[in-house]
Amino acid sequence: MLSYKSILLYSSLALQVQASLYHFTNPTTCCSLLHSEFHGGPSKVFSSIAPQYEALTFYWTPTAKVLPRCVFTPYNTNDVKKAVKLFARRNCQFAVRSGGHSYNPGWAGIKDGILISLGNMNQTTYDMNTKLATVEGGSRWTDVYGALLPYNVTVLGGRNSDLGVGGYLTGGGISFYANKEGFAADNIASVEIVLGDGTVINASRHHHPDLLRSIKGGSNNFGIITKFRLMTVNANGLFNGWYMRYPFASTDAYLAAAERYCKVGADEDTNSHIIFSASIVGTNPMTNVALMAYDGALDPLSPPSVLEPFFNGTVSSPTFQWFAPNGTIKSATDGLRDAQGSGNRYTMTTLSIHVKLSLLKQLREAWLLETALTENLQTTPGFLVQFAFQPVGKKWIAASEAKGGNSMGITKPLAIMWIQLRWDNESDDNKMLQYSRRLISKFESISARAGNPARFRYLNYGDRFHKNDIIPSYGSDNVKRLQRTKKRYDPDNVFGRLVPGGFKIPGY
Ligand SMILES: Cc1cc2nc3c(=O)[nH]c(=O)nc-3n(C[C@H](O)[C@H](O)[C@H](O)COP(=O)(O)OP(=O)(O)OC[C@H]3O[C@@H](n4cnc5c(N)ncnc54)[C@H](O)[C@@H]3O)c2cc1C
Repeated sequence: MLSYKSILLYSSLALQVQASLYHFTNPTTCCSLLHSEFHGGPSKVFSSIAPQYEALTFYWTPTAKVLPRCVFTPYNTNDVKKAVKLFARRNCQFAVRSGGHSYNPGWAGIKDGILISLGNMNQTTYDMNTKLATVEGGSRWTDVYGALLPYNVTVLGGRNSDLGVGGYLTGGGISFYANKEGFAADNIASVEIVLGDGTVINASRHHHPDLLRSIKGGSNNFGIITKFRLMTVNANGLFNGWYMRYPFASTDAYLAAAERYCKVGADEDTNSHIIFSASIVGTNPMTNVALMAYDGALDPLSPPSVLEPFFNGTVSSPTFQWFAPNGTIKSATDGLRDAQGSGNRYTMTTLSIHVKLSLLKQLREAWLLETALTENLQTTPGFLVQFAFQPVGKKWIAASEAKGGNSMGITKPLAIMWIQLRWDNESDDNKMLQYSRRLISKFESISARAGNPARFRYLNYGDRFHKNDIIPSYGSDNVKRLQRTKKRYDPDNVFGRLVPGGFKIPGY
């Protein structure tokens, strides 16, 4: 029997042979074919000299920006289908973009190819009988939450409301309801998807169940999702969001309280939600920052018991700051959107750990040391680094399983950990990217040495250097299922050979 490693090796050889067999059509020809196909209709093609081109190629971070030969803006599924058919027939390379929040260049963009920007497909409707929301694939969460508010329901979506639904949901999706309801992707009841041969199908737990499951964490590998039908949750009460900051001197107590929350707290009270982080801005000292949210009322003088250690002095010298007092999921996520404004250079990188206080301390130390020892790092204009983690507890995993499972293969509690970096100038890209690369490989060796490392890497926080590592981190059974689904639903590998961007399934 072939080992998992040999399957990967053969798959990659097959990929190289396959690539050399294809000849891509010149993008200018592809753009003019597209233009003739859609001339006079609502869906449009914009070349680089069109006044709209600049806005259509705006990304949340300029780090992601690459310039396509033209941008196609479909208004409906039928036009997406016609375009994909044309690209497959003529071997035109393209990219798919929903909210454009990916920070990796060429993930939701393409140099010289055609960018399909789904931004005009942004409607949300709600069916009171089925309690499902239908959300078009180019929507942003702020609009989705806004459309559902009058019904007192919401869906699991971005904590920053500016994110697009397409990339977020196909990458897994961590929402404020995750401790109770699992990944946002687990709450997809069905999707309408345009496949590589232009067929449009609906995948649900009853029809094409493997395709539905594969999409949950499978990114853009199977087709373009034009509609998501999402399970809803009640949103008739208050939703609260705030930051707790603690000075450097409180770090050990902060990490100890974080360990407890990760191991039991997140399961004890699933209305609570915490991201544990620490930030360094420029040459300032490190600050511990916990981003907290509660689905329910919050009185800072009498917090829910699971949050008490963060308020009552167990972690000393807290500073409290609201970002969404007594509001809704929309006000909370709009608050974070405004706090995390666009325009900076940016990257994230990720791994997971099985939480242990000693390991958290070692990783935190390694981060501080690497930051201090990297020459001229903190004086980089606009420098900010954030070291963050949050638990995936037993109830989160059980909710994922109960709703049909996903592709990501998390079976035991862990913490997703990430490094987030911001800076101002393109000339510092290399320095910052190399620093994040060194950090993550240090973290990998530290957590391997600590024993029982977690293999999972969260796709939505993955970086370009792990293009081919994210999906393998789901484990061999999941990779095999993804490969089977790929073979069945995209046998000509349209979304591999013609869509170069994104995290790929081994062999494609
Ligand atoms: C400031 C910030 C905050 C974030 N907060 C969170 C968070 O709270 N939780 C979380 O889980 N993640 C978070 N993320 C990560 C985020 O989920 C990913 O960047 C995600 O890809 C954004 O979705 P998008 O639609 O805007 O992506 P895009 O950049 O548009 O696309 C990303 C990828 O998805 C593919 N894709 C997009 N739409 C479709 C579609 N309809 N069909 C098929 N493929 C498609 C694209 O081809 C591309 O490869 C955050 C990122 C940032 C920068």
